[in-house]
Amino acid sequence: MMSMFDMHADVLMHIARTQAADEPSIVEAFNRHVTRMRAGGVMGAVVVDCRMAGESASSADFERFIQIANVLMHCNSASFCIATSADQLEEAFGGTKWVGLICHEGLRAAEGDLAWIARLYSEAGMRIASLTHNDSNAFATGVGDPAGSRRSANPRGLSHAGRQAVALMNELGILIDLAHASPATRRDILSCSSRPVMLSHTSSAAIYDNGRNLSDEDMREIADRGGLLGCMTSPAALADISDRHHHTLERYVEHLRHMIDVAGEDHVGLGLHFCEYLYTPQEYPPVAGLEDASQAMRIIHALRGARLTERQIEKVAFRNFFRVFREATH
Ligand SMILES: [Zn+2]
Repeated sequence: MMSMFDMHADVLMHIARTQAADEPSIVEAFNRHVTRMRAGGVMGAVVVDCRMAGESASSADFERFIQIANVLMHCNSASFCIATSADQLEEAFGGTKWVGLICHEGLRAAEGDLAWIARLYSEAGMRIASLTHNDSNAFATGVGDPAGSRRSANPRGLSHAGRQAVALMNELGILIDLAHASPATRRDILSCSSRPVMLSHTSSAAIYDNGRNLSDEDMREIADRGGLLGCMTSPAALADISDRHHHTLERYVEHLRHMIDVAGEDHVGLGLHFCEYLYTPQEYPPVAGLEDASQAMRIIHALRGARLTERQIEKVAFRNFFRVFREATH
């Protein structure tokens, strides 16, 4: 059975929102996610916490993130472990324990203070982070802010603090995630990061343009810099939210294959971003054949059906991510 590594799972956000603070309930909640992912062949994932655009974000949220991460890192679970290096990740993957990497999406509560990045690295084991959600903050403009769009007369990307944050993340060994960054922020990070980056969850604008999916040119820009693109399963990325006919596994594979065709087989991975556990079916209609992570193995079957070789599928399933994570963190 081919194992997969998911580049984006909002598991920590889910736990932060719903669970009590005590260790047993955090571990129990995490194990429910792990069990579902394992059932689909997803043997590891980037587990993410985030305060989304429009939500308030405070230092208390970071303290909670640190607390949850610490419980997971130190609970000595028989079923999972948290890796903080490429060696640990690759050693654990495919073994008896499911393996997670800690990520923060947005970092808005830092309010431009680099000390938070250093603290989250050392105290929460954070090895992946993005500098924005859809909104802008003290580091950078998000994809929802017209100031960072290509149509703006003078597109604004990274701030001064944002440039310092990129340098610090390069130095510490934190993989930078461009998901939710505005085009100007993506451009700035690609030009000033000394290490490869990823864009963990997106789809192909050539197939469906939702304003956030990437154009072929955007994808090549990231691939040309040694970066990695993750293809996401969210219905809103696959097709219009009312277009139920296209919320399907087949449509997901169409996006994924287009990304592989455009960016190349060395630059695409799985940023599955299942989020049925965060929303109601009305808000996020189920994707037929990919209702949750337990169905993920169907992606591998579909790629085999599309006559990709085992070697190519393995790259997309986990090898490309492992390479970029190693290059970004060693
Ligand atoms: Zn996201």
